[in-house]
Amino acid sequence: MKKDDVTCPRCGAGFRRLELSSGSGSKGEYRCPVCETTLEQFGGDKLVAYRLTIQPSIRGLKTG
Ligand SMILES: [Zn+2]
Repeated sequence: MKKDDVTCPRCGAGFRRLELSSGSGSKGEYRCPVCETTLEQFGGDKLVAYRLTIQPSIRGLKTG
């Protein structure tokens, strides 16, 4: 399992990214739940999970 920390380039939210190469995910994309910027597009060949760990400091954006 691979672990990475990802930061949204737009709003600064922090995410923990988990990648399981043995699993199979679904095609699609993961968008920042705060500002809806696409953080990653999935090809479906592996399972990727994101978890929000740092709330952005920018005001005026909906947090969810
Ligand atoms: Zn964002």
